[in-house]
Amino acid sequence: MAVFVNGVIFDGIDTSAQDCWKLEAYVARGGYQALRRIIESKMAQEDVIAEVKNSGLRGRGGAGFPTGLKWSFMPRSFPGDKYVVCNTDEGEPGTFKDRDILRFNPHALIEGMIIAGYAMGTKAGYNYIHGEIFEEYELFEAALDEARQAGFLGKNILGSDFSFDLFAHHGYGAYICGEETALLESLEGKKGQPRFKPPFPASFGLYGKPTTINNTESFASVPFIIRDGAQKFLEAGKPNNGGTKLFSVSGHVNRPGNYEIPLGTPFSVLLEMAGGMRDGKKLKAVIPGGSSAPILPGDVMMQCTMDYDSIAKAGSMLGSGAVIVMNEDVCMVKALERLAYFYHEESCGQCTPCREGTGWLYKVIHRIANGEGRPGDLELLDSVGNNMAGRTICALADAAVFPVRSFTKHFRNEFEYLIEHKKPLVDHKWC
Ligand code: SF4
Repeated sequence: MAVFVNGVIFDGIDTSAQDCWKLEAYVARGGYQALRRIIESKMAQEDVIAEVKNSGLRGRGGAGFPTGLKWSFMPRSFPGDKYVVCNTDEGEPGTFKDRDILRFNPHALIEGMIIAGYAMGTKAGYNYIHGEIFEEYELFEAALDEARQAGFLGKNILGSDFSFDLFAHHGYGAYICGEETALLESLEGKKGQPRFKPPFPASFGLYGKPTTINNTESFASVPFIIRDGAQKFLEAGKPNNGGTKLFSVSGHVNRPGNYEIPLGTPFSVLLEMAGGMRDGKKLKAVIPGGSSAPILPGDVMMQCTMDYDSIAKAGSMLGSGAVIVMNEDVCMVKALERLAYFYHEESCGQCTPCREGTGWLYKVIHRIANGEGRPGDLELLDSVGNNMAGRTICALADAAVFPVRSFTKHFRNEFEYLIEHKKPLVDHKWC
């Protein structure tokens, strides 16, 4: 898959340059100036948090929760250990942006995490990296070494009394470890299964200590905010949707890859950047925010701008920014079958509605896709979904139900046709 990264968080990186990830290249782009500024000016912790709040930065991992507000939940005066944790467990189908931050701009993430550590009064941080990416993990370790040797990490950073160290942790590739409490369990060396909440990680996180978890892209956005100002970041996007965002565009486009664009950019512009529809085919549908976001018909999507509010208004979620583009040759039953299989495979099995429900969803969709659907199967999918959503420990069950509901809502005729005629309405071609 071709990768076209335009900026990777405002830096305008030439990603074809072999050493663009190195410390020297990062410093030449203005890297570590933000850290120097807060340390040399002895900036108050609450002022750093206020700057992040004012930037309008919303969590880039999926939920879109305001990052500065999350930082403010950390009990800074807590006397014991506290942690910042980065979630690079990027496993959502369609999402491949965070690995490119590690690959092309790891020091932006490192600097962002150090600033987070400073702002929240923590001495240690961890970056949990998805177990199926190896080169990026090694590269991040190398970048950590560079930062330590340059005095940006470790004891008495830049001669101050602030000490902070950062460690990389390689996961094992389970999708569920992207759920923040499963990630913490895994980081502690246990089976990666979500915890009951409350308590939330801000009060009971890693090793039972206060912990703030953010996505890779969220942390990597912070150096720009501190260096160039919250206002500049905010203005790059639109109200309530500050800054730029990386979008992973995949599917039936001519140039799949990562694109960094201001939030609020029309979807039609992003599609054009990705080279338009492959082979001149018609746009049928788009999943705008990773596989758990409801699918939208192409004509609805063409009216949207790429930001949290516009996509929510259209009935979906911006999520992680994974934009999966489908052309007229996609059979929606087949496409949903693939997604349902994924969630069934990735359920951790703790909750009965999720463990059994994801299996039921897959079995019913599979039989419809294979011409063995029965009258009443769509109602059965509804009923199973209703017994799953909102009834489990984590949101994986909901994530499995959202695609089922949206596919059967927007493309119901394809499901009904297949059940009735035992053959698909659309002659499915993946490529
Ligand atoms: Fe595990 Fe599913 Fe329950 Fe989440 S909802 S804890 S993935 S069984």
